[in-house]
Amino acid sequence: MVPKERIDAVLAEYDRDDIVIATLTSHSSLQIFHGARKMGFKTIGFTVNHDTRYYDAFPLAKPDELVRLQDFDEIFDRAGEFVDRNVVLIPHGSFVEYMGAKRFQSLEIPVYGNRSVLQWESDRDMERDWITSAGVAMPNIIDDARDIDKPVLIKYHGAKGGRGFFIAKDYPEFKLGIDHTQPYTIQEYVLGTRYYLHFFYSPLSTEGYHAHEGSMELLSIDRRDESNIDEMYKLGAQEELKRHGLFPSFVVTGNVPVVLRESLLPKAFDMAEKIVKRSYELFGGIWGPFCLESIVTDKLDFKVFEISSRIVAGTNPFISGSPYADMIHPGLSTGARLALEIRKAADEDRLGEILT
Ligand code: ATP
Repeated sequence: MVPKERIDAVLAEYDRDDIVIATLTSHSSLQIFHGARKMGFKTIGFTVNHDTRYYDAFPLAKPDELVRLQDFDEIFDRAGEFVDRNVVLIPHGSFVEYMGAKRFQSLEIPVYGNRSVLQWESDRDMERDWITSAGVAMPNIIDDARDIDKPVLIKYHGAKGGRGFFIAKDYPEFKLGIDHTQPYTIQEYVLGTRYYLHFFYSPLSTEGYHAHEGSMELLSIDRRDESNIDEMYKLGAQEELKRHGLFPSFVVTGNVPVVLRESLLPKAFDMAEKIVKRSYELFGGIWGPFCLESIVTDKLDFKVFEISSRIVAGTNPFISGSPYADMIHPGLSTGARLALEIRKAADEDRLGEILT
């Protein structure tokens, strides 16, 4: 990982009035560029073999400049050039995944957020240690498949967007579906409603909801549309469908805005605060946008099955604000909130506190 001192040395040379916000064209990049432009930043979109013509359809979210790269090595080769232009990179899921977490950590260009979180997030066991040791409930793990006596979800490690996951209700069903060539985890299937809570933790502010040493904002909530599980019920019982070779899958295809029953908000903030506090104890903290992917049971308990420590695509329905953001920063998306934070850090000469 690139040492923090190296990034601090780079930042010492940055022109704080001329910062350029850059990210990879994909995922939540429209929102990131739109928000950065709204806050008066110049923007660069990096692209590697990605069709970017759709940006023409959204002029207010089109980056000022598209940099077409042969491959990700080119970002490394040209890092000096981007540093000279005061570039700050905004990570998102596709950026980190396509480049690879290890390489992303070694890039000598300032990145928003703590790059150490990547280790804790990419390893399901470490992520579980972090969440549960913070005092936040997760779905139980079943160590031995022969103990399956209620619905479980089999999750392959590294499977993105739930691809290949399957549900089993007993050991014979597990044996039927399992691919032993890939590492997997067997997790209790939590029956309830899914909420993907989009928080923003600012270490630069103590206004509003004070948490840890800064402030916690809930900017929006979504529910993912997942194909084909979300529509499967229309064809009848899953058991019956299996006989016809139709199995449920959890591939994310879109996002729907939701709001939470108001009495659940205190629990949601409590979880977010505990997770941030624990992240500082374990690896120097998470700040900025993060998402708690949760299921609420009919007992009104949350179970968090995953955390994403950066902007998530589920924030995309909220480019012009959300029912929650509008009570804090009217009309601001998470992308714009990120830009606002960078602006504040630049103005107060505190960029080193949020860039690594
Ligand atoms: P990503 O990294 O894109 O978030 P992933 O491959 O890590 O996805 P998860 O987010 O863990 O996968 O799960 C994918 C989907 O499976 C969830 O959005 C949810 O619908 C469902 N799911 C996950 N865990 C559980 C669970 N314990 N009980 C019920 N449903 C679950």
